[in-house]
Amino acid sequence: MNNANRVLDAVVDELVDALIAALGPGGVLSGDALHSDYTHDETLTAEPVLPLAVVLPTSTVQVSNVMKIADEFEIPVVLRGSGTGLSGGAKPVENGVVMAFEKMASIVEVDEINRTAVVEPGVTLDQLNDAIAPKGLVYPVFPGESTATIGGNIGTNAGGMRAITYGVTRHHVLGLEVVLADGRVIRTGGKIVKSSSGYDITQLMIGSEGTLGVVTQATLKLQPIRPFVSTLLAPFSSLDEAASAVQHVLCGGVTPLMLEYLDAITMSGITSIAGIDLGVSDNIRARAVAYLIVALESSHEDRLEDDTETVATQLSEDGALEVYVLPRPAGTQLIQAREKAFFAAKAAGADDLVDTVVPRSEIFDYMTAVSTLADTQGAFVAGCGHVGDGNVHLSVFQPDPEKRGELLRAIFETAMSIGGAISGEHGIGTEKQKYFLELEHPVKLDLMRKIKSVFDPKCILGPERLVDPPT
Ligand SMILES: Cc1cc2nc3c(=O)[nH]c(=O)nc-3n(C[C@H](O)[C@H](O)[C@H](O)COP(=O)(O)OP(=O)(O)OC[C@H]3O[C@@H](n4cnc5c(N)ncnc54)[C@H](O)[C@@H]3O)c2cc1C
Repeated sequence: MNNANRVLDAVVDELVDALIAALGPGGVLSGDALHSDYTHDETLTAEPVLPLAVVLPTSTVQVSNVMKIADEFEIPVVLRGSGTGLSGGAKPVENGVVMAFEKMASIVEVDEINRTAVVEPGVTLDQLNDAIAPKGLVYPVFPGESTATIGGNIGTNAGGMRAITYGVTRHHVLGLEVVLADGRVIRTGGKIVKSSSGYDITQLMIGSEGTLGVVTQATLKLQPIRPFVSTLLAPFSSLDEAASAVQHVLCGGVTPLMLEYLDAITMSGITSIAGIDLGVSDNIRARAVAYLIVALESSHEDRLEDDTETVATQLSEDGALEVYVLPRPAGTQLIQAREKAFFAAKAAGADDLVDTVVPRSEIFDYMTAVSTLADTQGAFVAGCGHVGDGNVHLSVFQPDPEKRGELLRAIFETAMSIGGAISGEHGIGTEKQKYFLELEHPVKLDLMRKIKSVFDPKCILGPERLVDPPT
């Protein structure tokens, strides 16, 4: 061991000692105690990275103390919820610490009158919804992975299938408690539905991917549960017909809870993995190139029946080969299978996943353009997406990293040229950063870097992702 390594080891020992003094021995994992789960998120392209240590704070005070230590040692800190992210946002850095929130997972308060919940960042979507369902309430942001945490959802501005009706995470966070990179604590917003009182720091934090501050508490807006739900499945033999059906449904007077698109390959993948038979005949399956899933919800059973009939008629008029109104268990199974489409793509050997967003009127033309781009790089692209929001999820099959990189660049550039963005909900993280830095407007990047340096001048929080280039 040379001198430099000895000095480094001594500094790491000193750091771990300081962290243990702040959190107690159970609050710091290092060496053999580091579980491999902490070395990655669910991103297909990112190599696992072993951090120096993982810290598990139990309170805001502990988070603040860790950030003061990180500030003093100038050690990077990467924040981690459940690690279900798909952009490398929670991927550790080698010479840094991971802060995870499994010990900060309390629901502090549910206020039925204000319809709000105050939660710690490690609360998962499942935990929150299980706790509030008996009160007739729901936190309506449903990204496909309900083991994800509120902290992670805020980090990525998570969306999901219900965004068409309810919006995304940023529409449901009313206030935050945030620990800054130097350990200071601020509170933003609260149980108030509006405020015109200066720059909106709550909104700035949402989608900042753990690079501006540590969310230690969130005040969330809840909704009443609408108990009646129906699910329609409509196969189409052409993309054009599916496209006009989407416009028809969106403008037809009934706002769907979900409006999802799946190409025939993705549909066959998710139903066979989930083992569901939806009663689609072989003949229709052979002719279908695209499927739409429309979910509707209502507080009144008879209104739901009317809405279901209206939407079924719209789908038929636009050329659906058949319209299936699924019985509730089959509808639920189909939605759950769609939520897990990522795992079907992974099992099929997808090399990357993109979640570009375009204006929803452009989505099918955009997908046709993407197919042509894929052909030029000898790649195969399978797709599904939250079509009601213009959010396309593409599984990209091209093992050659150079060709795949060219393809992704072209896919993003095409989306941006029609008013879209690189990511609709997964974030930029480490894995889409090179495209973001290349394609985003330089003045916007400059402003974002200045914001980062105001919040975190030493670049302690989440380095080498989003606007901070890799060293
Ligand atoms: C099968 C599957 C389906 C999915 N479907 C969807 C979908 O439909 N829509 C969607 O939006 N996403 C989807 N995702 C992606 C993922 O679930 C979301 O990105 C989710 O928000 C990540 O939450 P997490 O707790 O796992 O966070 P992580 O992956 O651990 O972290 C995500 C980001 O948040 C930051 N972060 C974590 N905690 C905090 C904190 N306390 N303060 C500040 N920043 C923090 C991290 O640093 C990181 O940048 C899916 C993932 C899978 C595996």
